[in-house]
Amino acid sequence: MKIFNTLSRRKEEFVSLTPGEVKMYVCGPTVYNLIHIGNARPMIVFDTVRRYFEYKGYTVRYVSNFTDVDDKIIKKANEEGVDADTISKRYIAECKKDMEGMNVKPATVHPLATEEIDGMEDMIETLIEKNHAYVAQDGTVYFRTSSFKEYGKLSHKNLEDLQSGFREIKVTGEEGKEDPNDFVLWKPKKEGEPYWESPWCEGRPGWHIECSVMAKKYLGDQIDIHAGGEDLIFPHHENEIAQSESANEKPFATYWMHNAFLNIDNRKMSKSLGNFFTVREIGEKYDLQVLRFFMLSAHYRSPLNFSAELMEASKNALERIITCAGRLRDLEQKAAGEAETCEEQGHMEEADGFRRKYEAAMEDDFNTADAIAAIFELVKLANSTADENSTKAYVSYLKGMLEELCGVLGLITQKKEEALDSQVEEMIAARQKARKEKNFALADQIRAQLLEMGIVLEDTREGVKWKRV
Ligand code: AMP
Ligand code: ZN
Repeated sequence: MKIFNTLSRRKEEFVSLTPGEVKMYVCGPTVYNLIHIGNARPMIVFDTVRRYFEYKGYTVRYVSNFTDVDDKIIKKANEEGVDADTISKRYIAECKKDMEGMNVKPATVHPLATEEIDGMEDMIETLIEKNHAYVAQDGTVYFRTSSFKEYGKLSHKNLEDLQSGFREIKVTGEEGKEDPNDFVLWKPKKEGEPYWESPWCEGRPGWHIECSVMAKKYLGDQIDIHAGGEDLIFPHHENEIAQSESANEKPFATYWMHNAFLNIDNRKMSKSLGNFFTVREIGEKYDLQVLRFFMLSAHYRSPLNFSAELMEASKNALERIITCAGRLRDLEQKAAGEAETCEEQGHMEEADGFRRKYEAAMEDDFNTADAIAAIFELVKLANSTADENSTKAYVSYLKGMLEELCGVLGLITQKKEEALDSQVEEMIAARQKARKEKNFALADQIRAQLLEMGIVLEDTREGVKWKRV
């Protein structure tokens, strides 16, 4: 499997630190508002990377943080007259709803910056002890970039160039810096801001330190993949490397992956430019599966321009896949149970070829665009060869493969209502079983759960009937 590594600027063969295991850290959003579809790009892309590793049999430990202490959160809290915690909790909950809609799996751990302050203080202490950090007069702690010889290795920036670029710039409030490249690890509190006690001053951590600390705590000193949008390469990821490698004295992440921007009118979609659509807004117009399909229709390292036309095209393309899968499911139920015919065997081999194409595309730095093309070849084969005369074995084979390959991309091949119907049927069957076994408590519990979903049951002589209320 080949991955483009920002560190070497080359595609490299993937070798995990521990056989059969992938440790992945993906920088998450700052939670002060609903996420926009630009923020959704890394979520969808790296969730797909995770799913592909799982398909290949790896156990993936996937960690993604929520930055829940930040100037923008504090500003929003002051505007609303509530505390920062209220704002971040609200938008974490909203973000999780959006993730679910886009079928982004929850991370193994979603740490919160505010719950990891002790770890941050420990790492800062270590950096000070090792002379990689210093405390200014006002209690601000800075990382000493000149102490980390490899500073700039990720962004391919040269420290001297950076220094001369900065020479003329004096930033107020940062007088205590030894060097303009140095960055904040801990800063003193300001009036009305949340703060924590520390050996240096009452204050709060800088942004970069949280990811170094969370990666270490939940994945260890060395991880396989560190990922995020390309705007994070410098300074965020460059600074994370400097902190982690100076504190732990080990290489931090083996592979650094960065997605390109989601643009609108060829400019980066961003909160500050105001040119964004929230995931919620898109969800009012489209099933969020369409958004997911749209994101994966381009390679993650290519800029992607958002447009209504492309969304419509994605909607139609996804519809073709869903229709095909639905037809295969119908045929499977009706088909006779005999073994596949010789002719069908030939088609199954053809289908295997499409699976190989799909895998080759995914293993070439996660080329989801080509993987989707392979899925369409499979759809074409199914549409032209599977019908009422096909055997169950053949139809099931195609259906299974289509569902599996789409599933690895996080695409659900069932319409929402259809998926819900089968979930209801399963729950009713479980209730019947419970009743038969005289486990009435469980049966009642299932009935209540169904009621919560808006489903009412009616026990009739012909069996259980259900309807939506
Ligand atoms: P933020 O909340 O701004 O820190 O962003 C969270 C994640 O979204 C980071 O990985 C960013 O790189 C990514 N991101 C933000 N805007 C875009 C965009 N327009 N296109 C792609 N990724 C983005
Ligand atoms: Zn980060």
